[in-house]
Amino acid sequence: MDISIRRTTQKKPRPPASDLGWGQYFTDHMFLMDYEPGRGWHNPRIEPYGPLTIDPAAAVLHYAQELFDGFKAIRGEDDKVRLFRPDRHCARLAEGSVRMCIPPVPTDAMLQAVLEFVRVDQDWVPSQRNAALYLRPTLIGTEPFLGVRPSRTYTFFIIGSPVGAYYAEGFNPVSIWVEQECVRAARGGLGAVKAGANYAASLYAAERAKKHGYSQVLWLDAAEHKYLEEVGTMNLFVGIDGTFITPPLEGSILEGVTRNSIITLLRDWNYEVVERRLSIDEIQEAHTQGRLNEIFGCGTGAVISPVGELGHKDKRLSINDRKPGPVSQRVFEELTGIQQARIPDTRGWLVPI
Ligand code: PMP
Repeated sequence: MDISIRRTTQKKPRPPASDLGWGQYFTDHMFLMDYEPGRGWHNPRIEPYGPLTIDPAAAVLHYAQELFDGFKAIRGEDDKVRLFRPDRHCARLAEGSVRMCIPPVPTDAMLQAVLEFVRVDQDWVPSQRNAALYLRPTLIGTEPFLGVRPSRTYTFFIIGSPVGAYYAEGFNPVSIWVEQECVRAARGGLGAVKAGANYAASLYAAERAKKHGYSQVLWLDAAEHKYLEEVGTMNLFVGIDGTFITPPLEGSILEGVTRNSIITLLRDWNYEVVERRLSIDEIQEAHTQGRLNEIFGCGTGAVISPVGELGHKDKRLSINDRKPGPVSQRVFEELTGIQQARIPDTRGWLVPI
């Protein structure tokens, strides 16, 4: 694929390195490519970052025909920039496109586009420990048409946002509300796809939990409101009696790349890891019996987010005395160590730009 590059003549002022926050600044450029019947994906290009021109009748604006992915370019301690498992993220986007009736961008073209984009904006990759350039490849239906059917035209774009360390003040366990009423996704729906529609469905309960002093919600399954699914926008691991349990991939949860990496690490460290359904009653019982070791969420953004407290109906369960569990801590150190090239990447998870 031949990517044309038009560089900006007006570089943006650099955001404060110590106060990047999350997702509020964007780099100088963006990658774009278009799809039309007969021509397929065409016109791959890198241009100065700026607004898209989109018809108000475009499919994405009405019926949410859209999906995206999110992963990081990280500057190692040796000052080299690498991507963390971009092949898996690109494959997830390509597989999800099929569910969204969007013509997939071939994964090798997607990877080439991401690498070229990061090379052009590489001086935006922050150098502070645990900061990164967050990459957001996105596919949208652009055809102006109000009938309900797949769009005939699409745009694929990639933008990048320098993000700060998630834990500016240390590794903080969070309080989570066990949501009994709203659900994020049902089996057979879009839960396994990184579709914007899932995030729209999650906002109401997340805001309500925040109003009550919780950071996020623990989602239960849509049919019985009984089994754990995800925590906020993260996958979930629960340590009971030294075994780590994570909900199975049955169509309503996203197959996280961090989840997959953690299963590999834990098994390499000789922990037993089981992918199975786990009910909130079982958590409650293990807690009462003192067998609940630790709970943590995992995802690209925070890498690991220890859960310090669960609000369930009228009870508040404190997990591991509201301290990060030893395995949460070890996994965090290992994954961020590999990402920053402080620990050898023996599994081939990093791709240099
Ligand atoms: N579940 C949801 C709903 C998410 O948005 C994310 C973040 N992408 C994850 C899980 C974790 O996925 P990953 O480890 O690939 O970032």
